[in-house]
Amino acid sequence: MAWSNEASVVSRGGVDYWRTWFLEECEEYNLFGLTARHLPLVLADGGGFHSYDEGRQLFLEDAPYFKKTKTHHRVCGPYEVVPSSLPPGGEITHQQNGKIIIYKEKWPERGPWLDRSYVRRNVDGVDLKYKQVSREFNFFPFRFSIRKTNKYKIHYFRHEADCWLCVR
Ligand SMILES: [Zn+2]
Repeated sequence: MAWSNEASVVSRGGVDYWRTWFLEECEEYNLFGLTARHLPLVLADGGGFHSYDEGRQLFLEDAPYFKKTKTHHRVCGPYEVVPSSLPPGGEITHQQNGKIIIYKEKWPERGPWLDRSYVRRNVDGVDLKYKQVSREFNFFPFRFSIRKTNKYKIHYFRHEADCWLCVR
């Protein structure tokens, strides 16, 4: 998920690249989560450029990888937005043709994005050890479902001066 209350998303060629410290959870649960402050970025009527609807593609940046290597960004995708079923107590935030696209989770503190003091992963030979912070983002209550497209790949982009992925 986003690393601050500022928008940690970069748009390129009409596709959004979101940074997240929770890549594994997003992939395991096929979900992405936002705070209320991020909502305008995915709702056209909230002042964003567009609405997230079924089939919209996006990428996720594995934030701890760049933090560790300082040389490369690890970016996965594309994923596409798929309709969600409303969990118990959930509220619809955005729908399209009767399909639920974004909803507000009633008990976001149940996960999958939690505060964890240490996460250890080895990614292509790079040891990552980092902290996950979610409580201060209210556990990202606004959620939408994603799945990997058949073009899904793991991309490595070299970090450079005026790096497009570091614009924000
Ligand atoms: Zn960069």
